[in-house]
Amino acid sequence: MLKFTPILLAILYALAMYRFSVWRTSKELDSKSTELADPALRKLTDRMAQALDLERIKVHIYEIDPVNGLAAPDGRIFITRGFYDKYRAGEVTGEEMASVIAHELGHVALGHSRRRMIDFSGQNALRTALAMILGRFIPGIGVMIANALASLLAAGLSRSDEYEADAYASALLIKSGIGTAGQKSLFAKLDALTGSTGRAPAWLMSHPKTADRVAAIEANEAKWLRV
Ligand SMILES: [Zn+2]
Repeated sequence: MLKFTPILLAILYALAMYRFSVWRTSKELDSKSTELADPALRKLTDRMAQALDLERIKVHIYEIDPVNGLAAPDGRIFITRGFYDKYRAGEVTGEEMASVIAHELGHVALGHSRRRMIDFSGQNALRTALAMILGRFIPGIGVMIANALASLLAAGLSRSDEYEADAYASALLIKSGIGTAGQKSLFAKLDALTGSTGRAPAWLMSHPKTADRVAAIEANEAKWLRV
C-alpha cells in the first residue's frame, strides 16, 4: 500500500491543480468578457429563445484568440473573440455560430456545466500536473501513464456529454427553424479554422470523432423527422 501512496498523492495533487485551473479560468472570464452585441446573431438567438419560451439567450465574448465555445459552471455561454472574428470575416456563417451557441446551451440545460468547466482548459492543467509528478515517481514511463490517464479521464467525462449537447443543439436548431446544416458544416471546417493554432477547439475535440458526431446528428434527424 505504502508503495502506491506517492501515486495517490500525485493524483490528488493533479485534481487540486485541475480545480484551481477551473477557478482561475472563471476569474479570467469575469475580467475578460463582454456581452455579445451582434444584430444578425441576435436574430438567430432570438429564434432559439422563442423555441425555448425564453425572453432571450445571453451570449458573452471571451477576449482570447483561439477558436472556442464554452459553457461556464454558472451557466453563462461564451464564444471567443477569435471565433467571432472568423464569423465577421465570413469564414463562419451565422447558422454555424448559432449551432455552437445551441451546443453550449445544451451543456447548461443538461447540467453538464455544473459539474465542470465545459469545452475549455482544465484538461491541460491536469495532464501537465500528472505528467510532472508521475514522471518524478516513475521515471521514464511516468509521463506516458500521466498522458494516458488524463486522456482516459477526459474522454470518459466528455464523450457522452458531447453527444448529448449535440443532440440538444440539433433539436433546438430544428425547432427554431434554423436547421442542422450549419451544425454539420461547421464540423467540416474544423481543420481550416484551427490551422493557425494547430489545436482543435475543445468543443470539437477529437474524442468523439467529427465524422461520428455528424453521423449521430443525421441519425437523430432521421429518427425525429420520419413521418
Ligand atoms: Zn461540448
